[in-house]
Amino acid sequence: MDKNEVIEVLRQFTRRDHEARLALYTEPDPETYQRKVAEVEQHYALEEGVYTGFSHRRQLSEQWHRTRDKMGKRVTQRVLFQVKKYESPEFGELFLAYLSGEFKHDQDGYAQRLVLTQTKAGLRISSVDGLCLSCTGRGKIGEEQCSACGGRGWEHGSGRKLGTLGQLVETYKLQAPTDPTSLAEYESE
Ligand SMILES: [Zn+2]
Repeated sequence: MDKNEVIEVLRQFTRRDHEARLALYTEPDPETYQRKVAEVEQHYALEEGVYTGFSHRRQLSEQWHRTRDKMGKRVTQRVLFQVKKYESPEFGELFLAYLSGEFKHDQDGYAQRLVLTQTKAGLRISSVDGLCLSCTGRGKIGEEQCSACGGRGWEHGSGRKLGTLGQLVETYKLQAPTDPTSLAEYESE
């Protein structure tokens, strides 16, 4: 798959992800919310058990109404930092995308890593990893290897659990993170 196509798919995903998250926090109309969630869900291989982070039914509680404006201002479009292309023995072409978090205070470094593979429906997110919260991606706590993530800096979130990613073919660097741990990884390969 062409580099620009992959990046375009991911940019479309981050736009839709942002719109759906904004709707999660601010949209009172359930149908509008569900439509935005359905748009972002098109990017996932849901048959692999990937968790998108969106529920279909929300509770529009007192609390929701009270925090609506505040949450709407906090949420932003995720930064796409880089994409690594692998040749996987199991899937063929496989892409690993590194993204920031969903909130404005979480844009300087990695928060989420998506694995995209070719499915019958096209290129889809088949697995999601989250940054290890114990070591915040460093893989170490002091001089000790982090036991929570086994030193990888990432924890499997949902979807297909992959063994090896395969051979790294190419890295597409789009935006350098400013967080030192993320930047060190960004510059490493
Ligand atoms: Zn860890």
